[in-house]
Amino acid sequence: MKTANADTNEVLIDCQSLWKVFGDKSAAAMKSINARGLGKKQVLKEYNCVVGVANASLQVRRGEIFCIMGLSGSGKSTLIRLLNKLITPSSGKVLVKGRDIAALSPVELRQMRAMNIGMVFQSVALLPHRTVLENAAFGLEVQGISKLERNKTAKAALETVGLADWVDRYPNELSGGMQQRVGLARALASDPEIILMDEPFSALDPLIRRQLQDEFRQLTKSLGKSAVFITHDLDEAIRIGDRIAIMKDGAIIQTGTAEEIILNPADDYVAEFVAGISRLHLIKAHSVMHSVTEFQRSEPNSDISSLVRTTPDADIDELITLTMQSDRDAIAVVDNDQVVGVVTPRGLLMGVKGTSNNDRAAA
Ligand code: ADP
Ligand code: MG
Repeated sequence: MKTANADTNEVLIDCQSLWKVFGDKSAAAMKSINARGLGKKQVLKEYNCVVGVANASLQVRRGEIFCIMGLSGSGKSTLIRLLNKLITPSSGKVLVKGRDIAALSPVELRQMRAMNIGMVFQSVALLPHRTVLENAAFGLEVQGISKLERNKTAKAALETVGLADWVDRYPNELSGGMQQRVGLARALASDPEIILMDEPFSALDPLIRRQLQDEFRQLTKSLGKSAVFITHDLDEAIRIGDRIAIMKDGAIIQTGTAEEIILNPADDYVAEFVAGISRLHLIKAHSVMHSVTEFQRSEPNSDISSLVRTTPDADIDELITLTMQSDRDAIAVVDNDQVVGVVTPRGLLMGVKGTSNNDRAAA
């Protein structure tokens, strides 16, 4: 499998003004939307058509986990299905690695799905009479890869998701979380560049869910994959995503990092979502560190060069873990080979106090 690519700005998926209108008169409805700017309600009333996705544009860059968040019915599944042409748009374009997927032949489309884009659904739909290994190898079987080779690849993918000991079992012997792992292994076995996940963890218990969220993020990053991850849970989006797009009534109303969205919600709707989110997510090494001179003033005998190091973007989980692991009471924050600050347990606690007391106005 490939490792992370240096060019992180390369756009892998580019959606341009995508629309999906469902219904018999969708073409006429689309015309009126363009001509008269009809809204979702009017389209339903005048044409008996449902607007699934409305003028959505987004770019997924190489190496990033892009989350799409919205309530049930906001158009998330419709949007993600447009990305690999499981459905075709009523208007607008999807470019995958610069190629307009509307122009692909059936063979090219199959190739693209096999090589560039893998998908994991909310209910993984494992084949009940096949073993875990056969299920994980299924995508490769469809591609016509020999049994020996596909089993070897599927086995490696199952190992990656922690199911090495379960290859010969059947789906009904597995818990829900493990079945989702098989689904992920099946997607990973084809070694796609981009993984599409439609609410894969929504049906799981909170504890398992959190564990899978962390594992998924780590796995995606360590394999150098890119992902589009759908969820109706903003906490999950923040935990997993590098960037988040928030959908409402088929439209994307805000795209940004968790920090950008929490600190600067685009409208009341987003603000309401954000109100329930803990500000602890916003703690980063750069926001709680002391300057080097400040640190040296209070700890004149401390040797900064021998401190454990981290990056300015390290989050609270990482900062706590490093603090617990280190026998010194400080962590050096390094940017471009330069120590730009020092995080102390005290500074970290001050940060926690500040952000939990703070609200949007203060931030
Ligand atoms: P989400 O995944 O965010 O819950 P969906 O993308 O499934 O939302 O649905 C968005 C809207 O499109 C909803 O109003 C839904 O009823 C409608 N919709 C989705 N699929 C179809 C379809 N095949 N035919 C008609 N309407 C659909
Ligand atoms: Mg859905």
